[in-house]
Amino acid sequence: MSESPSTVLQVNGLAKTYFLPKAFRKPLEVKALRGVSLELKAGETLAVVGESGCGKSTLAKVLLKIEGKTSGSVSILGKDIDSLSSKELPGYLQMIFQDPYSSINPRKNIFDIIAEPLRIRKVSLDEIAKRVAASAERVGLRPELLRRYPHMLSGGQRQRVGIARALITEPKVIVCDEPVSALDVSVQAQVLNLLLDLQQEKGLSYLFISHDLGVVRFLAHRVAVMYLGEFVEIADSETLFKNPKHPYTQLLLESTPTVGLAGSVPVVTQSEFQASDLPSPLNPPSGCGFHTRCPFAVERCKTETPKLRHLGKTQVACHLAQ
Ligand code: SF4
Repeated sequence: MSESPSTVLQVNGLAKTYFLPKAFRKPLEVKALRGVSLELKAGETLAVVGESGCGKSTLAKVLLKIEGKTSGSVSILGKDIDSLSSKELPGYLQMIFQDPYSSINPRKNIFDIIAEPLRIRKVSLDEIAKRVAASAERVGLRPELLRRYPHMLSGGQRQRVGIARALITEPKVIVCDEPVSALDVSVQAQVLNLLLDLQQEKGLSYLFISHDLGVVRFLAHRVAVMYLGEFVEIADSETLFKNPKHPYTQLLLESTPTVGLAGSVPVVTQSEFQASDLPSPLNPPSGCGFHTRCPFAVERCKTETPKLRHLGKTQVACHLAQ
């Protein structure tokens, strides 16, 4: 009997609140994450989707300890990330950034950019040279490119540099924050195929943050839909695209014509939603955060916040979903 894949990343009740300077003597706070929980298995891709400002990039920053959390816990391979130093964390968790150009230092050559995580960990020069060459070769960067500078590379080559830098510490989990959204469509496919090959070869787990549902459908095993800092629906990819249960998920699918494939029948059309923009996180709606846009909202939705509950193969936070 085959063993089920082990959990590599466990997030429980993760919250992040930003406190803004007082205005009119009132303290202002933005609850960017409101108690997010997730589990990522070995070799799995979990996509986190939602509109800009929903909290998905904050989730990435908190996991990478770029931002401190307000409450909750994160463990990776059974270790609490709070117990891992900034030198140790990249051996467990790395990140591929959205914009390959702004995420790499323009004054360093490609060799030094890829080598940086190893230099921080005081690896020997011989070992660095070997590992940089191997990592660059694996992502399809020719050896002569290692002496060049970022501005001398194409967008696709720069993203390969970002992937080589993430791989160099041999992490088990990689957070991919919109890794192909800044690339041309033809290059996007090459980079996505590279990520799939690397996952199979190294058993990597990806937390894949994206607003592009076409890319998510191609790559993700499971999908978590985020709205105003909370997950409102989590399901395996096939179930979510064929039978979205939460009205917000239905809005996202309806807004993305490329995923309107046979079997994914929108339950509501975009024109039925009452407002098109995400409410301000500074002043979020009471009750269900989606009630100001939801065509199905009832009185209860304005006062009572729905919790994630199991419904068949889906977890959904909606009073009326069935
Ligand atoms: Fe719409 Fe109410 Fe469900 Fe929220 S809880 S998604 S407002 S029906």
